[in-house]
Amino acid sequence: MIILKNKEQIEIMRRAGQVVSQTLDMVSEVIKPGMTTAELDRLIEAFIVSKGAIPGFKDYQGFPASACISINDEVVHGIPGNRVIREGDLVSVDVGSIVDDYYGDSARTYAVGKVSPEKKRLMEITYKSLLAGIDKARKGNKLGQISAAVQKVAEDAGFGVVRQLVGHGIGRRMHEEPQVPNFGLPHEGPILEVGTVLAIEPMVNMGTYNVKTLPDGWTVVTADGLPSAHFEHTVAVTENGPDILSLS
Ligand code: MG
Ligand code: MG
Repeated sequence: MIILKNKEQIEIMRRAGQVVSQTLDMVSEVIKPGMTTAELDRLIEAFIVSKGAIPGFKDYQGFPASACISINDEVVHGIPGNRVIREGDLVSVDVGSIVDDYYGDSARTYAVGKVSPEKKRLMEITYKSLLAGIDKARKGNKLGQISAAVQKVAEDAGFGVVRQLVGHGIGRRMHEEPQVPNFGLPHEGPILEVGTVLAIEPMVNMGTYNVKTLPDGWTVVTADGLPSAHFEHTVAVTENGPDILSLS
């Protein structure tokens, strides 16, 4: 069942979304070669707490940190640790926050220093695919229109859209119905109603869409070892069209 949110609830979720967006803005200022992913995670956690919010990922299903930090061929769910961020890396940072019992969820991929043109293009296309999906988050549309729009942008560019992980409804729980695939046909899925809030999050691979999970039980990597990018926004379906809640 899709839990619709009223205007008041959407405003609470906007506050949670603002915290994640401001956190990701902060990351763009501090991320640099030589720092470890654990150092970056500590800064993220301190920032979220300084905003009066609760880190949404910490202890979520046992996840040990406040951010998922995934480098290059790591798609999502990378666990912060001793890994050093290097010049030329693509670093995907996914952050959740809880404000007044509601979740915000957003992710960005950062180019650290000078990255290859192919990596840059992968980032740009992934972000474009997110925007294309968001544009379909409109009252009366089918959910599949979001999925198909994301897929088209990514595949027209020759990239692979991850199938095994999807976006999701969000609210008092981080993962609510419906699932929001980044692939599919426009006539599929439920009709979007006002008050639906979705975390739309394309994960786009430079090569094959196939992924696998590392033995740590969390980190998802591309099957072919090529890089991946990930952008995510929390978006409400309103009378006036899509409303991105995870903006600063
Ligand atoms: Mg996320
Ligand atoms: Mg999400």
